[in-house]
Amino acid sequence: MKAVVDIVIIGAGMAGLCASVEAAAAGASVIVLEKQPQIGGSSLLSGCFMAFAGTEFQKQHGITDSADSLIEDMLQVGQYKNDRTLVETYGQHQLETYNWLVNQGVQFIDCQAVSGHTNPRGHTIVPNQAIDMLKSRAIEHGAKIYTDAVVTRLEKRNERVEQVHVTYRGHSYVVEARKGIIIASGGFSRSEDLLEHFAPGLTNTIRLGGVGNTGDGIRLACEQGAWLRDTPYLKGTYGFHPSSTNDNKRQAHTFYKGGIIVNEQGDRFVNESISYKLLGDAALQQSDQSTFQIWDQTVMDKGVKGDALYDFASLEELGLMERSESIEALATIIGVPPSSLQQTISSYNEAVDTGNDVLGRTTLTHTFGKPTKIITAPFYAMNTSTAMLATYAGVTVNEKAEVLNPFNESIPGLFAAGEVVGGFHGAGYMTGSSLGKAAIFGRIAAKQAIQQSNVEEALV
Ligand SMILES: Cc1cc2nc3c(=O)[nH]c(=O)nc-3n(C[C@H](O)[C@H](O)[C@H](O)COP(=O)(O)OP(=O)(O)OC[C@H]3O[C@@H](n4cnc5c(N)ncnc54)[C@H](O)[C@@H]3O)c2cc1C
Repeated sequence: MKAVVDIVIIGAGMAGLCASVEAAAAGASVIVLEKQPQIGGSSLLSGCFMAFAGTEFQKQHGITDSADSLIEDMLQVGQYKNDRTLVETYGQHQLETYNWLVNQGVQFIDCQAVSGHTNPRGHTIVPNQAIDMLKSRAIEHGAKIYTDAVVTRLEKRNERVEQVHVTYRGHSYVVEARKGIIIASGGFSRSEDLLEHFAPGLTNTIRLGGVGNTGDGIRLACEQGAWLRDTPYLKGTYGFHPSSTNDNKRQAHTFYKGGIIVNEQGDRFVNESISYKLLGDAALQQSDQSTFQIWDQTVMDKGVKGDALYDFASLEELGLMERSESIEALATIIGVPPSSLQQTISSYNEAVDTGNDVLGRTTLTHTFGKPTKIITAPFYAMNTSTAMLATYAGVTVNEKAEVLNPFNESIPGLFAAGEVVGGFHGAGYMTGSSLGKAAIFGRIAAKQAIQQSNVEEALV
């Protein structure tokens, strides 16, 4: 059976849904094909931070910020290996996309200082609410969303990628896309095969992320001649209790509020203020990869109820943290040498006073906040692992979200947005920029597909 529409979108996460709202609102006929029985992918499981600067929300909370500062942070965190044009495009469209999301009914609840940002800029959504709202908007505008619809192959006709092969509830179909195909199928954090191929050093990480995120979009695009970017920079995310699963993501970033990180010997081994991706690299290099966050009541009091990263009290209620009135007793509980942990904390506290930390820590996260001494009992510890939850490397695109071949030429008819795309984060990832780029570039892909086909039609 064959169907013909204007735009086919592969995947119904943040990128695919934003693309579908944008395209359907512009009058295009749109179908969204989602492999899983439910929509949402990793977007639904996410920690809920979206990186935007200069928003009304920030202004209302007295935070002065700008797109330029966001761009600079993103490039710095990516060690300037990012595709600058993509980062600048994010900067150019981010505020408008924040306002667009608000207009679609997406609720922003809070704004936190998160990894890689000079200012508190992690705008929190409630993923279920955001996904439901975008789905409703897409349907209102006439988009059709199919679940259990697995895209298996793409095909060119007259040099243009136009045909989408899909298996839907046991039957095979071909859908023809007159104006464009948008790959929004997420990353490959659930593909052992691709992780083994691209990131063999990360095999000991906890696997999280949408179960449908097996890198299908990368294979589909590569068959059509796409080039890949950022695969050498694949990283895990530090901060998860080893018992974490998709249903129970037990995550705490006490280190960004003033905690420290130690290994089994009770020694610090990394500047705790750097990106949690780089913390993940450092943790994976420790013997047995067993590490602990250590903090005191001052840090505990900075917990934020209900927050994905900073709700320390809830993790304590679940019995995932150890607590003691003395450092020595805490060390004994977690099995690290007490004298060593005591020495580590004394040296750290001294460095907080002198500003002369051996590991170079002068802030809480990125350039934000001042470290505090670990002196106020009770003291706390959490066994902490690194998780592979998102891949952030993949298909090469330009600022129009067109998929590019190894010669930087666009592949006609093919667009990509969201986690399936590479080149954006470079060597390091800044919190909130993945959901942010999914929304921004999902919309750009839809607009471009429509605009370009309108121009082509006018020229015929
Ligand atoms: C635990 C966790 C916490 C996170 N926290 C944050 C955060 O706070 N801020 C942030 O910015 N990012 C965060 N991320 C990363 C972020 O959630 C993702 O990178 C982002 O949601 C990706 O959006 P997407 O639309 O590209 O992909 P997804 O939301 O994953 O959607 C892709 C969809 O495509 C479907 N699909 C795949 N293959 C096919 C196929 N062949 N046919 C049809 N459909 C297909 C999948 O089933 C999936 O539903 C987090 C991720 C996780 C797992």
